Amino acid sequence: MPIEPNDHNLPLGSRLYPILVGSFNAQAKLVKERLTGKKSIFYTPAELLRPSDKGLIEEYERIVPVITGIWDKSGKRLYRAVGLDPERWRVNSEYLKAAIRASTLNFAESTQATFHEDFNGHYELLKHAIRAEIELGRLGAGETTEQLTKRLMKYFQDNNRFRARRIAQTEAVRAHHLAMQWSAKDSSVVAGWQWVETSASCPICHAIAKDANNPTGRRTVKLGQIFAVRGTNPDYKNIRFPPAHPFCRCTLKAILEPSYTHDPKPIDWSFLPA
Ligand SMILES: [Zn+2]
Repeated sequence: MPIEPNDHNLPLGSRLYPILVGSFNAQAKLVKERLTGKKSIFYTPAELLRPSDKGLIEEYERIVPVITGIWDKSGKRLYRAVGLDPERWRVNSEYLKAAIRASTLNFAESTQATFHEDFNGHYELLKHAIRAEIELGRLGAGETTEQLTKRLMKYFQDNNRFRARRIAQTEAVRAHHLAMQWSAKDSSVVAGWQWVETSASCPICHAIAKDANNPTGRRTVKLGQIFAVRGTNPDYKNIRFPPAHPFCRCTLKAILEPSYTHDPKPIDWSFLPA
């Protein structure tokens, strides 16, 4: 996926990055500890790294304040954009706090789940490769754990930082737009959204943003409706707002209620089939 330019001045997750990279590196360390001194490579990945390993809860508690900060700024920004007093947006209300915590838990859990999934896949590949090398006589049986540990650590070293950067940026963009959805609902003046691409958006976002059936040529949806369906992840497949993919930096433009704008023309809505 392309890294889109930050034309719309979106939050890029610079405060999420160190938390995520720290969590991934801690898990890599755990794998190393569990492999050290072992003679066999025939562990299941789950024996080396378990979903219940420390990290998730700690990570979650550290992420909540960062996400709250994004919600605070982004909700105010929407209020300002539609001509309301930004101070009316309060992230410390109980129902917004609950929404922030729920979305953050989702984020922390799915981050951990994909990390584990990738680790499992890579571990199995390495085991296969090492077995084949033993059979070909290229690797002595005594070298196996050492080789496996070395290769796993290289994998983590090569991937953890990029993975953390990708997730931090993508999740910051998601939090920004989720906050916008909530503040739009709260404002009572937003009727819907238009998808706004960047100056260099990918074909996915381009397809979402364009709508030949709409006189404006731009796709618009009513508040709460979806723009597109992508993939199978129940948390992420219904695309109501950017990101549509990792590193997506598109945004939404609010369409205001005709009664609020004193525009008697009805809004021309069009939808992607769900
Ligand atoms: Zn995009």
